[in-house]
Amino acid sequence: MALASDLPHAICVELARQAIAGGPDAYAPDAAAARARQFQATLLGPVINATGVLLHTNLGRAPFATATPPQAMNIEFDLATGERGSRQTAVGGLLAMLCGAEAAMVVNNNAAAVLLVLAALANERDVLVSRGESVEIGGGFRIPDVMEQSGARLIDVGTTNRTRLGDYSKAMTRKATDAALVLKVHPSNYRVEGFVEQTSVAQLATLGVPVVADIGSGLIDANCPWLPGAPPAWLANEPAARQTLADGAALVTFSGDKLFGGPQAGIIAGRAELVEACKRHPLARALRPGSHVLLALQELALAYLNRTVVDAVPFWQMATATVNDLTVRAHELVAAVGSGEVVATEATPGAGSAPNAGIASVGIRIAGDHLAALRHQQPPIVARNRDGATVLDLRTVNTADDHYVIAALRACVL
Ligand SMILES: *Cc1c(COP(=O)(O)O)cnc(C)c1O
Repeated sequence: MALASDLPHAICVELARQAIAGGPDAYAPDAAAARARQFQATLLGPVINATGVLLHTNLGRAPFATATPPQAMNIEFDLATGERGSRQTAVGGLLAMLCGAEAAMVVNNNAAAVLLVLAALANERDVLVSRGESVEIGGGFRIPDVMEQSGARLIDVGTTNRTRLGDYSKAMTRKATDAALVLKVHPSNYRVEGFVEQTSVAQLATLGVPVVADIGSGLIDANCPWLPGAPPAWLANEPAARQTLADGAALVTFSGDKLFGGPQAGIIAGRAELVEACKRHPLARALRPGSHVLLALQELALAYLNRTVVDAVPFWQMATATVNDLTVRAHELVAAVGSGEVVATEATPGAGSAPNAGIASVGIRIAGDHLAALRHQQPPIVARNRDGATVLDLRTVNTADDHYVIAALRACVL
């Protein structure tokens, strides 16, 4: 039987061989076809995120479309002079403007940004970190490990739950200490409750060494001036780049694909001479982003500056959809499917942003567990199981994909 797939011939032959080698059961007419389907599902492709997790790390965090033309680009070429330029100039300038920073640069992700900052500014010197912020963010990003890889020495300050300014100054004035930086890390994905005290960036800025704030989540401005109304309540505890710098941080680092809403990238913004030192470090070459990412970030930065974020940036579309609109959509979907019910849900920002913050949302509940069947649709749909039923949260589903959801649910409930 011919393999019902568009896979390259060489792969089909290999899968057919594997099917035959699999023994007598594998001779069933559809064994090779089943392997082809399995193989196809391992390839990368678009999926519909119906989990209600806006920045789902396993689903690529912020969805962001870019169309890079298959053409040469002036990525390191100065059109004014005809001479070699820097790939950091254009996008770095826009990002600096957005954050209210003197300068900015881009690397491959925020882990790379922190690594580069430490390597460039604190190699073989001391970096003070609160014990409450010596955290693991997920995916193997642990502050003590990154510190070690950078060649900087970690000085633990204070205790897990309380670290005061005096703890930092005491650690700094110890004779053996050669403090290059204070690193403040947003403990993105967890929260210590109760008897807790942190030292603010404004306080740390009085210590006399540059304060680097890894804010992680990439909220550009706490006032969200790109939104028509007030900032959503669930962002209340998120540090923002502009305010952190205004409070006296010498540098901030953050991800491009979290609350900023763009492609995977790491952004370093702040004082010009410190950004310059990062650009000059040999690691900057190893961590530099490609033209697709830079072009996407440029579009994103321009959308922020043009105040077109709510229309142009899918993350902010998801974040700002009203419960009313979601409810109307949910009823339309249920009517079209002819089954299921509209339920209140709680979406979450995800990717360690605003932990514990729920976003009121709306979903469709279908009796029974259809998660696997939904994953096998084209495009695949990732939903959640709630008390044995299947729930699709509409906040994370692009309205343009609703017809796929209808077709998939019809197939499931038949
Ligand atoms: C997410 C996060 C990181 C890691 O960022 P990536 O872009 O995933 O490399 C580092 N620090 C903080 C505080 C974070 O929230």
